[in-house]
Amino acid sequence: MKQLLLQGHSWSLWLCNQAHLAKHINDALSMPFHRGLPRVEARKFIYFYEEEESHNETLLKFAKLDYNRVQLLHKQELGVVSRWWKELDLAKGLPYVRDRIAEGFFQSAGVQFEPDFALSRILLTKCIQILALVDDTYDSYGTLQELQCFTDALERGNSDQLPADYLKILYKAVLDFFEELGDGEGNEGRSYCINYTKERYKEVVRSYLVEAQWFYDGHLRPFNEYMHNALISSCFSLLPPVVFLGVEKLAGVKEFKWLETNPKLVEASKFFGRLLNDMVARKDEEKEGHCLAGNCYMKEYGVSKEKAMEELRKMCDNAWKDMNEESMRPTAVPMPLITSIVNLARMMEVVFQYDDGYTIASSLKDHVTLMFVEPIPED
Ligand SMILES: [Mg+2]
Repeated sequence: MKQLLLQGHSWSLWLCNQAHLAKHINDALSMPFHRGLPRVEARKFIYFYEEEESHNETLLKFAKLDYNRVQLLHKQELGVVSRWWKELDLAKGLPYVRDRIAEGFFQSAGVQFEPDFALSRILLTKCIQILALVDDTYDSYGTLQELQCFTDALERGNSDQLPADYLKILYKAVLDFFEELGDGEGNEGRSYCINYTKERYKEVVRSYLVEAQWFYDGHLRPFNEYMHNALISSCFSLLPPVVFLGVEKLAGVKEFKWLETNPKLVEASKFFGRLLNDMVARKDEEKEGHCLAGNCYMKEYGVSKEKAMEELRKMCDNAWKDMNEESMRPTAVPMPLITSIVNLARMMEVVFQYDDGYTIASSLKDHVTLMFVEPIPED
């Protein structure tokens, strides 16, 4: 009996010592390692590793130093984009503007955290901010006629016919972003890359107009017709070229030509990003009657909401299989570029894990704090 009690005691002692293991397993169950953002997962792993009895002190020290030094760099970049956002002062002319610069930068830093990608992160944050503003304008602010005028103005490159002042402010914000991408001068290859990116931007805006027209029509579209447009409005064909533009030494004409072929990896990430976004769509969007993947699927196939969600989840899992497959074989472009596309999908997993993390600011607060505010204690 005494021996049994002793055994019980040592078992509970062992369990106490393994609390970090239980946490590690729980974390992996709620967010599988390969679907989480590398930077978020790295921090979690450092804490786990520290609790391991057999940990290597030197390795642990360097891991913390590395994490904290990269965090300092990210902080400086966050300062740069925050100043840019403040100086733009768009709230003056656009009362519906959302202040989400930290969330936007979190997403950009999630796509590529490496120091070499500093310019990519800055461009991507600006792209996300301005695009979210355009999206909100098309979703809930402009009239259909105003939106049509805005889309035409962007196509023509001329804002003279814009019917409202707020549209002129928005137009200028988009044009200023285009200028940030580069003026298209320099070598011929560079101007091709810049123009390619601007064209993807205009394509996204056209897809927003289609969605606005559907909304005003008040009819749900067949699932495939909806998805054809929604894959463009997912922005996942625009964000990769923005990232690529920030790393000129890795991404040149060859890499942009590769994007132009709409590779399976990019297509799968678009699919995944769009479906996940729609499954966690804001309730108000659903109530207002916006077309979303779930309700288009329900209507076309005459199934319940639960069944539609189950089918969409299966499609998401299949998209992940495609992304895994495409990033394991020898790739046509450098691996850091492939990783940035996979990270776009991972970023969606994190931002939409529980809610719409971009719209509901508080749901990303912990991530933002850990990524940019609190260093890992080094002693
Ligand atoms: Mg929209």
